Amino acid sequence: MSKPKVVILGAGPAGISAAWRLTKLGYPVTVLERDGAVGGMGRTIKVGDYSVDFGPHTFHIRATPESKKILKTITPFFGEDPLTLVRGTRVLLRGKEYVYPLEMLQVLFGVSPLLSARILFDYSMATLKSFFAPAKKEDSFEEWGVRNLGRTLYDLCFGVYSERVWGLPTSQISSKQAQRVAKLNLKNIILRTLGIKADPATYFTKYFYPRKGISLLYEGMAREVAAGGNKVLLNSPAVRVERSGDKVSRVAYKTATGEQSMDCDILLSTLPLPALVNMTSPALPQAVIDHAAKLRYRSLKLIYIALKRPQLTDYHWVYLLDEQFRVNRMSEQKNVSPDMVPKDRTILCIELSLWKDEPLWKASDEEIYRLALNDLMKMGYGVTESEVDSYYVTDIPTAYPVYELNFEDHLIPVLEGVHEMRNVMTLGRHGLFLNNSMDDNVGLGFQIADHIEKKGADGRVWVSEMLEFMKLRFAGK
Ligand SMILES: Cc1cc2nc3c(=O)[nH]c(=O)nc-3n(C[C@H](O)[C@H](O)[C@H](O)COP(=O)(O)OP(=O)(O)OC[C@H]3O[C@@H](n4cnc5c(N)ncnc54)[C@H](O)[C@@H]3O)c2cc1C
Repeated sequence: MSKPKVVILGAGPAGISAAWRLTKLGYPVTVLERDGAVGGMGRTIKVGDYSVDFGPHTFHIRATPESKKILKTITPFFGEDPLTLVRGTRVLLRGKEYVYPLEMLQVLFGVSPLLSARILFDYSMATLKSFFAPAKKEDSFEEWGVRNLGRTLYDLCFGVYSERVWGLPTSQISSKQAQRVAKLNLKNIILRTLGIKADPATYFTKYFYPRKGISLLYEGMAREVAAGGNKVLLNSPAVRVERSGDKVSRVAYKTATGEQSMDCDILLSTLPLPALVNMTSPALPQAVIDHAAKLRYRSLKLIYIALKRPQLTDYHWVYLLDEQFRVNRMSEQKNVSPDMVPKDRTILCIELSLWKDEPLWKASDEEIYRLALNDLMKMGYGVTESEVDSYYVTDIPTAYPVYELNFEDHLIPVLEGVHEMRNVMTLGRHGLFLNNSMDDNVGLGFQIADHIEKKGADGRVWVSEMLEFMKLRFAGK
């Protein structure tokens, strides 16, 4: 019997990995991709003489059996002599650099004795308090932070930074935003610093990276999808998902020559859930549409600044914790792979979080560049405007799912409502509204293909498995 025809929306890490595995399993697959290249947010772009990711996209190496399996599968796509890197991340706090993930003993010894004493006092009080008043079922990011770290350390290292990244007071953000940093209480940090304890799923120190940029992985998979007789259609955004009863039967997409459509037996979507809900015809129940409208995404401007010097720092990323900064993070692509940037130049990627409806989102590239340059000059690395070689500004409108308090009251009805269409299965960062990394999404791509092969394509079965999986993630596991 011939296998059912699968249409996949989006050729990012999740979509292309699913397509690759389904191709190996003999399924007829068509991937519809809005952009002119595969890789989604994990894509390498050319900026003049420089090759850059959307902030260097390194593949996390975790010491778990699942991670080892994924790494083994993807290694052949990483090209010649791939790089294994030791995590090189710093935070800039009160004019000093600290290792990230925060090695808090360093912070305690780095700040003034008075501040250090306050950190320890607050932490002891918080520990005592939480002993007598255990956490509520749903608490805010702020409550979580103060309970685990004490007020002073939380404000210093998480409070100010998180409000800037998420664009909301942390009292309005769910503690589930802490996901993989959930084990970051002072006791664990100290144990980890002393090398006594480290959770392999949440704590990792190494990355894997192809010398020519992360796109190599996804382009390699796309080539094998095509070699297997399947299609990846670029510049082909899905515009309508047509359902008959409780199944999707056709998908319409735009091309340079007009709208086209195709049949499908199974639809896999990596699109933002609100986008999928809004393109479904006939419309899904109003309650599902209303809940989907409550799921918000934080948007990102990426400002690339090339400098006429061979290197600025030794680091992959620098997090900017202090109030004086408007941008969140700076990264230096060359320190991840020297093969992507000319020898006598370096290029930085500076990230600025915004809401799409705030005026700054519509500001000119020149204005955004000036804002980033201003922050760069405050970082203490001695950058001057005269050494800027060139700049380039781009954006990601749906970069981060935002976990507002009680967001699950909206997310779960949307996931359940969408999967009432029995042959629809969602995955990936946007398809599950999960702030996860590429290794997770590649793993989910493989998992969904194996699931279809073993258990068939019942969306309701898939979503109940995913809700269990997400519960673990939200609990920091
Ligand atoms: C700044 C930044 C840095 C990051 N750094 C790292 C890192 O170092 N390591 C790491 O592991 N993870 C990192 N991540 C996370 C990583 O980017 C994501 O986990 C991953 O890209 C998600 O993959 P995905 O396939 O689920 O979604 P996406 O990558 O968003 O892919 C979705 C795809 O769907 C396409 N699409 C959208 N609408 C349509 C439509 N209507 N029709 C057809 N196609 C459509 C998009 O063009 C896109 O290609 C980072 C994320 C950001 C924002």
